[in-house]
Amino acid sequence: MKLILLGPPGAGKGTQAKMLTERFGIPQIATGDILRGAVQAGTALGLQAKSFMDAGALVPDEVVIGIVRERLQQQDCVAGFILDGFPRTVAQADALQVSLESLGRRLDRVISLTVDADELVERLTGRRTCRSCGRGYHVTFDPPRSAQQCDACGGDLYQRDDDREETIRKRLTVYDQQTSPLIAYYRAAGSLTELDGMQPIPVVQEQVLVALQAG
Ligand code: ADP
Ligand code: ADP
Ligand code: ZN
Repeated sequence: MKLILLGPPGAGKGTQAKMLTERFGIPQIATGDILRGAVQAGTALGLQAKSFMDAGALVPDEVVIGIVRERLQQQDCVAGFILDGFPRTVAQADALQVSLESLGRRLDRVISLTVDADELVERLTGRRTCRSCGRGYHVTFDPPRSAQQCDACGGDLYQRDDDREETIRKRLTVYDQQTSPLIAYYRAAGSLTELDGMQPIPVVQEQVLVALQAG
């Protein structure tokens, strides 16, 4: 299964992706997680990406396109993959198409999650993230069993630097301007399913699974 999860920051892409990786045993490719890992490790990539991420802006296309192109060639992607947070621009979507074609592969489905702006702000301000495995929680909507520790791996939970209100507003504008055109892009390609992401996490998961069977 080769799948893209599309949606604004806070729509639930990561939450749904983690559940799908467990269910299907295919990797989640989250460009945000990869970039945060590079920032934490202090690599050249991390140094390059950090200022964009702190400002709530997109990291330049050529940087993320290169990351995903390499990642898709790894052995664990043969059975399928879930792209979470990529593509985010039309240029990235076009480049993905080229990469997949060169590997002789095709996307099965693009699932777009729709959520109101006010709800996105509430979700992102209450989000907590595991430093080890990247799993997301919410202080009220999806609380961890212990406030400091990840249920899945025991890692430390923290609040992302960019999950502060002013940066959140900026990221939502960036989504509207640069990423939302991908909805029409994939609709035209006939591979889009739009789901109501305002519903509870298990209901969204159920509908994602139905969409994948239909795809
Ligand atoms: P994204 O990866 O799209 O930015 P996340 O999956 O990290 O979004 O979810 C953002 C926040 O909202 C997290 O705190 C998560 O626990 C919470 N969340 C995700 N899906 C839902 C949902 N359907 N209802 C309520 N809260 C949700
Ligand atoms: P969210 O889960 O809130 O949607 P991500 O973790 O996907 O956020 O992304 C965090 C930040 O990493 C983005 O604000 C952006 O700076 C950078 N980033 C992640 N994916 C991409 C991408 N495909 N293109 C450009 N920048 C990206
Ligand atoms: Zn964890």
